[in-house]
Amino acid sequence: MYQYRRRLTREVSFGSILLGGYQPIRVESMTNTHTMDTAATVEQCRRLYEAGCEIIRLTVPTEKDADNLRNIRDQLRRDGIDTPLVADIHFSARAALKAVEFVENIRINPGNYAARQKFSTSEYTEDEYQEELRHVRLEFLPLVEKARKNGVSMRIGTNHGSLSDRTVSRYGNSPEGMVEAALEFGRICEDVGYHDILFSMKSSNVRVMIQAYRLLVEKADAELMHAYPLHLGVTEAGDGNEGRVKSAMGIGALLEDGLGDTIRVSLTEDPVHEVPVGFAIVKKYNDFHLVKGDKGHLPLKHIVDSRNRQNNHNLTPPDSLPFNPFSYQRRGSFPISIAGLLIGGDNVPKVETEVHAPLSEVDAVLQEAVQRLAPEKSHDAIRSEFASVRVNSSADLDGLDTLLQQLGGAAHFIVASTSDVSLAVMLLDKVSKVRLDIVEGEQLGKDFLKDLGNDRPGVLELCFLHEYAGQSVPAEVLAHLAEQLRKQGVKRLLFSIISENAVFAYRRLVQAFNSRSLDYPLVVRFKGETSDRLESLISSSVQAGALFCDGIGDILALATRLSVDEEVNLAFNILQGARIRMSKTEFISCPGCGRTYFDLEKATAAIKERTGHLKGLKIGIMGCIVNGPGEMADADFGYVGAGKNRISLYVGRECVEENISEKEAVERLIGLIKERGRWIDQV
Ligand code: SF4
Repeated sequence: MYQYRRRLTREVSFGSILLGGYQPIRVESMTNTHTMDTAATVEQCRRLYEAGCEIIRLTVPTEKDADNLRNIRDQLRRDGIDTPLVADIHFSARAALKAVEFVENIRINPGNYAARQKFSTSEYTEDEYQEELRHVRLEFLPLVEKARKNGVSMRIGTNHGSLSDRTVSRYGNSPEGMVEAALEFGRICEDVGYHDILFSMKSSNVRVMIQAYRLLVEKADAELMHAYPLHLGVTEAGDGNEGRVKSAMGIGALLEDGLGDTIRVSLTEDPVHEVPVGFAIVKKYNDFHLVKGDKGHLPLKHIVDSRNRQNNHNLTPPDSLPFNPFSYQRRGSFPISIAGLLIGGDNVPKVETEVHAPLSEVDAVLQEAVQRLAPEKSHDAIRSEFASVRVNSSADLDGLDTLLQQLGGAAHFIVASTSDVSLAVMLLDKVSKVRLDIVEGEQLGKDFLKDLGNDRPGVLELCFLHEYAGQSVPAEVLAHLAEQLRKQGVKRLLFSIISENAVFAYRRLVQAFNSRSLDYPLVVRFKGETSDRLESLISSSVQAGALFCDGIGDILALATRLSVDEEVNLAFNILQGARIRMSKTEFISCPGCGRTYFDLEKATAAIKERTGHLKGLKIGIMGCIVNGPGEMADADFGYVGAGKNRISLYVGRECVEENISEKEAVERLIGLIKERGRWIDQV
């Protein structure tokens, strides 16, 4: 919870490599060619291999595709490519039984493997439930035995959108249902002593995905199952920066928890693009690498139990933790107003970014501040609510005054930061918010604290710079200050920490605040020093995104070396990925696979261009009718591949136009959105 420690899992073999245990976290991808097309599939596997991909998955819809895996495998091995292959199975037990002869690992979906019925019964009696479990066991055991005989490992991969009727009837479409679906299959494997398994719990909803993996580990540990490895991924994450941000948030949040042994970033793009993103996400954690003898992290409840014993507090999970790891709940705080905008409470988190230009260059500051607060592209373009300028000394005050004058009404949205205590006091009368950077609690002194009241125009943010913290624990220093200021009745305060390990630093802060019942709003800050664009995107998404997914944060403040537009977009993508602030259309698009019979990338780009301004609307763009409708989950509208260049359109879960030509499908989708009253014209 408070420091990185990877969970030690059982090692599982994937042909020439192992994963789990002390192995590095592996990076996988999946082909989107037709598996019957040997040449195209081999060529794509070769490109993935050259990109460094460590495990390649191929879709296997039929027995014929399964049979063709032999040709693909043989050609790859002749070409000297020994990357482990995974057969991806939905529904067909026969395809699975054939595929297991030619691959190193087989992925089955417990939501549809051996499912006798689909969408047919919403209520199951206990007898019906048990009867279906017996049927599943009978159908599943031959695959387990054949996998064991061939030395093939298996991934039991649950998807949020494709749970069986049986599971949904009992647990709903929930993280609990996802976990139970996987454990039912896991128990069968354990029962017969087949331990070469791993689990995955994917969802396009990042919060659901994070909760499901955590819950799986908690429940599997409670059942004393072996610690099987986890394959991590956010499914239907989409393309471009949105897809990268969502993937980094979900996968990164779990890696921070110490969970995950192999990952796949799934993008609606050429699968080769997924590989560098995957490696960029796992790099930090592979650098930490488990050493032999390290037992990995303890289950959550053990942490709580041992803390209870040490502190002799009567704490019960999850209240003793800084947040509930299994279900979303926003951290409680009281609202305060900055420049007329409400921060904290139930208000959507606001965005702050830092102006790079120094106040000594007032024209450059002015230009950048305007760009951050109101991009020119369109009236609808998203913008940062607050732009922060740095005040290093009193020599900068003239520049600040000029800036504020020239900005007119927009001056309210300029905030300042300084590490000089007396300047901070002065600035509280000039700007809406002042961030004071502190390295030790003592530096503020009693006089400073006395000076603060609720009658100053500006709000004070006390920010602890973790990198200079020495032996001080930032959370304790800030909580102590907050307590003193609360006693004085000061309300117009915010708190933050700047740390490379923001996830752990903020969890400590929330824990320290909770233990003193402090409910000041928090600014989640992340400072990315790297000039590498992808690294910057990923570290910000992981560190800030993980916190918002756990309900922590009332302002998101980024300071990166990205361009202004990229940084502002990144902040909004993080908040949208955490589903805490929707600023544009949410696209849930699958990466496509051998089941896709239209140009998914092109269709996604066309739909995004026409509908990207429909704030808050969720549109699913899915490659196939077999899994698409289920896996687009809670989308409002769906554009789903129905056959060769044919599309079916959905409103919610209902198919309203079947099998229409791809040529007219985008227009018809827009027509549907208009008919249902969800369209707005672009300004
Ligand atoms: S929804 Fe997309 S990725 Fe999933 S099986 Fe269908 S085409 Fe393949």
